[in-house]
Amino acid sequence: MTKSIANRIEITRGDITLEAVDAIINAANETLLGGGGVDGAIHRAGGPAILEECRALGGCRTGDAKITNGGNLPARHVIHTVGPIYRGGESGEPELLASCYRRSIEVAAEHGLRTLAFPAISCGVYGYPHGAAAAIALRETATALERHDGIERVRFVLFSTEVLAVFQAARKALEA
Ligand code: ADP
Repeated sequence: MTKSIANRIEITRGDITLEAVDAIINAANETLLGGGGVDGAIHRAGGPAILEECRALGGCRTGDAKITNGGNLPARHVIHTVGPIYRGGESGEPELLASCYRRSIEVAAEHGLRTLAFPAISCGVYGYPHGAAAAIALRETATALERHDGIERVRFVLFSTEVLAVFQAARKALEA
C-alpha cells in the first residue's frame, strides 16, 4: 500500500453508531430487516427510518451493498453490506468478503460520499477468522481507494481490543 493510500485509512477502537461520517457500513444479513451485533446496534441507534427504507430494497445478496438514509445516527447514510458466513474458507468466502468492501466503496463513490466507517464485517456471528478477514479488508480497501479519489477517509471502527490489534497487525504487514 502506498503512503498516500495509507494516509486515507484509519484504524480505531469504538462504537460505529457514534461515527459522524458520510456513511457507516452495516454488516447486515440478506433480508436487510435487522439482526444482532452491529446490525442491531445500528437500527437501535438510527431508529425506524432506516428499517423503513430497507423494507423497500428487497434484500441484498452476500457480497453486495445497498445504501439508505442514516435516520437519527450522526452518519448521514448507512451502506448495508452482507458478509459471507464462514464455512471453512473453501466456499468463496474470501472473494465474497472482498466484494463487500469493494461494493460498499463503489456505492459510496456513486453517491459522492467522502468519509466512511467500516466495522469488521463477518468477524462476529458469521465466524470469519479475524486475521484473514483483516488482511482482506485492508487490501481491498486500499485497492478501491486507488480507483476512487473522491473517498477521502476510511475508518475501521472496531469494537474489541482483540480485533483492533488484529487489524493493526494486518496493516503493518501490508505496509511492510
Ligand atoms: P457478522 O454477522 O458480519 O459477523 P456481527 O455484527 O456479528 O456481524 O459482528 C461484526 C463485528 O462488529 C464484530 O467484530 C463485532 O464485535 C462488531 N460490533 C458489534 N457491535 C458494534 C458496534 N456498535 N460498533 C462497531 N463494531 C461492532
